[in-house]
Parts: sequence; structure tokens; C-alpha cells
Amino acid sequence: MAATTSALSGLEPRAFWEHFEKLTRIARPSRQEEPVIEYVKQWGAEHNLAVRQDDARNLVFEVTATEGRESAPKVVLQGHLDMVCERDPDSPNDPTEGRIALVVDGDWLTADGTTLGADDGVAIAAMMTLVEDPSVQHGPLQLLMTVAEEVGLEGANGLDGSLIDGTILINLDSEEDGKLTVGCAGSTDTWIRISRSREPLGDGAVALKVTASGGLGGHSGTNIHLGRSNAVKVLGRALREAYATVPFRLVSLDGGKSRNAIPRDAHAVCAIAADREADFRQALETATATIRDAFAKTDSGLNVGIEPAEATGDAWSETDTAALLDTVALVPTGPLAMSPDFDGLVETSTSLGEAITEGDTLTLHSLTRSSNDSALPEVIATLDAAARLAGGSLEVKHNYGGWRPNLESPALAAARTAYENQFGEPPVVTAVHAGLESAVIGDKVPGLDMLSFGPQIEFPHSPDERVSIPTGERFWRLLVGVLEELSKPGAAA
Ligand SMILES: [Zn+2]
Repeated sequence: MAATTSALSGLEPRAFWEHFEKLTRIARPSRQEEPVIEYVKQWGAEHNLAVRQDDARNLVFEVTATEGRESAPKVVLQGHLDMVCERDPDSPNDPTEGRIALVVDGDWLTADGTTLGADDGVAIAAMMTLVEDPSVQHGPLQLLMTVAEEVGLEGANGLDGSLIDGTILINLDSEEDGKLTVGCAGSTDTWIRISRSREPLGDGAVALKVTASGGLGGHSGTNIHLGRSNAVKVLGRALREAYATVPFRLVSLDGGKSRNAIPRDAHAVCAIAADREADFRQALETATATIRDAFAKTDSGLNVGIEPAEATGDAWSETDTAALLDTVALVPTGPLAMSPDFDGLVETSTSLGEAITEGDTLTLHSLTRSSNDSALPEVIATLDAAARLAGGSLEVKHNYGGWRPNLESPALAAARTAYENQFGEPPVVTAVHAGLESAVIGDKVPGLDMLSFGPQIEFPHSPDERVSIPTGERFWRLLVGVLEELSKPGAAA
């Protein structure tokens, strides 16, 4: 082996960090994983591991059990090959070309001016180290290396489930040391579309642009229970309350940038009879004061502003405007049910992520999440009812089901034992209200007993990404301990 001159020399476990470092020299942006696929295939061949690849390009390596552990349940270890390749604009380094400059800063490993790819290079490095370390006791293993995780879990979505015959899956893509994750939310997109014919604006109307902005926004899953304002809903409410005093015609309503984020900006153009402009402004101001008060404790920067706009083209009638604003009011947004297993965790939520005006049609795009698949139909029925009451339609796209926590899981019991043996205290067992690859894989391979953990990784997907070095070692020790526990003669199958 070549002499180590890297920033990582001296770090333990040495083989793990060496594999990690080699991965940082291979370009692996999402959808362009060919170099790293070739690299791990080559590595697998050197270790005589049978490998299969599906049409989505995910890899599954077979690892035989250590002696005496052949009858243990087969465990699937899973991580993703791709990484988010971000860089500071003036950095000489570039992950898309395999140029990552490692920097050790105290207890942290980071990259100079770029993402590090600890998300999820630590998983691949751990799998490689494991195969090479004869001291680790384990049953039969499958190493599932997925592609294109960072672009909507594409690889996992394309997984050929028939390649997986393990009964336990350990996902190595969690980012909080000390935690065992045992559940996550599934996701379903919906689009309410309402088409109503429009007519020219005509004379005697002034146009005003009303904008909702200044809210905190955030992730539409993990931040949904924090009482933050949704700009589309705020705008809809302000307009609806103003309409009650001064009916007007809606020219357009648009807001939100992504289904994944709570909208921070939304704007509408309204056509108002010129002699009612002052009354409209007054009514809107009154409505805004009440809305701001409602969010005084949770999202105090929120505001609704008004400015002149150009009055051109056409608009919906007053009656249709009322119907459209009623629909915005009916679309639920926020947490709908809390987890029965974990305090403070949302089980089911829905978030109105986008409003789009296109021609005669207003589209309202929502993302509904739940770890409880059986809770989903009621939410979809609500959205469907809102669409039908407005004479519109609902499109539903089910992305993947939820991963419902099973606190009686044998894999969890083994992981708890291993954790306590290693660290002398119990782990935090938790679930997340967001999507993980495990949920998608669990959909493809029914009956898998699943678990996820990882080292402490902060600011992933940004040039500030860093991994805590001591928790890298803890991650390794936990993985080894869990595999030993799960393969102990007589362990639950
Ligand atoms: Zn990841």
C-alpha cells in the first residue's frame, strides 16, 4: 500500500478513512456515477464478491458469512454512491471532477471550498472496510449501493426488488450520531386544477399586486409542525377577507417554488373598480393585521404588501374569483396527526407547495406525507373534495409508501443491545417526517425489517459539509457490533 501522506493519516479506524479518502478522488455526481460504479465493481472483483446490477444501475454485492455464522439472517447494508457536488464559485476544487481537498479541523473532517461527500461516502467506505476486515463477525450480507439518491431517490425508485433476498436492511445514510432511525414518511403529490373562463378586464378597473412574503419557510416535512406561515395560504386568506368587503376580479395567483419547501413568497394581481381602491386597501390592511397577529409567536416577519400593477389582458369573474379563493381556503396545510410512537413527531402532514396561474387554470400543488399509509386516503379525499366542489379535478401521484416504525423489531432490539454494549448507554430511537431511501426500498421488498444510523454529518449538500471524526469511529463500532449481534448463533431470524 502506498505511504499515506494525506490529511487523514493517523485517523482511526484507518482502513475506513482510507477508503473514504479514495472515494473523494472519484467524481460521483448524481446520474453520472459510472466512474465510481466501475471502481466498486473492480474492488468487488478483487474480493471475489458476486455482483448484480439492475436497469437503474444500482449494485448488489453478495458477501458470504464468516465461519460459523452461515445460518444467521441475511442483512442488507445500504448506502448511495452519488453525492451533491456543490462548490464555492472561486474554489479551485471541484467534486464533479473528483477534486476534493480534505481538511481536518479539530474533531471535524471537511473539504476546502466544496461538499465533502460524507453523505454518503461513509456508507460505501464502511461496507468496503467490513469486507476486508477478518475480525468482524457477520452473517451473510448483501451490499446495496444505490445511485441518484440526491435527485429524488431515483436509484431506489428504479430498484429491482428481486435482487434483494435479505430480511433485515440497515441504511447507512443517517446524519445524527447516537440515534437509531426506525421510520420515515411516504410521499404523495397532488394537483388540484380548476379551469374557469376569463373575460377582458374592461375599463374602470385598477390593478393591484398583493404580495405575501417575509415568512421563515423551511422544509415542508421536518418543519411542518413549527407553526410557520405558508405564503400561498396567507395570501389566499388576506384576499378572501378583503373580497368580503370589496369584491374584485382575480387576474393571477402564484406562489411557492417547490413542493419540498413551505412557500415564502406568493403574489396575486387583482382588478378592482377604481372607486373602491381605497376600501380594498383598507380591507386588506385589516386582514393582514389579524393574520400577522395569528403568527406573532411563530413567524413574526410575515407581511402582506400591496403595490400598483399593470391592468392588461383578462381576469376571472367576481363569482369565479370567490370560488377560487374558497378552494385555496379549503386546501389543508400543516400537521394532521402526531406519531403514536414518538413525542413531538408528526405522523401525517400536507403542505400546499405551489400555486400556479396558467391561462384559464389555477393549479394548487400539494405534497402529503405520512409514515402511516392507511392514513393517507382521508387526506387525498379531502383534496379531492375541495377540487370537486370547485368544479375542478385532482391528479394524484403516489411516490412511495411510509416506513412505519416497528418498536418490536428484532433488528432494533439487536441494535439497542449492540449500542449499549459499545457505549454504555441507550441510543435515542426515533423516526423522521421526511423521505428516506429505506421507505422506497421497503416498498419494493415487502417485509424487510429496517433500521438506519450514521455518524454526525452537518451542513450536507453545502460547501460547509463536515463529518465528526470521533463519530466516524463510533459509527464503525456500532455497525460491527450490530452485525455481530444479529449473527450470534441462536439470534432471531
Ligand atoms: Zn444521503
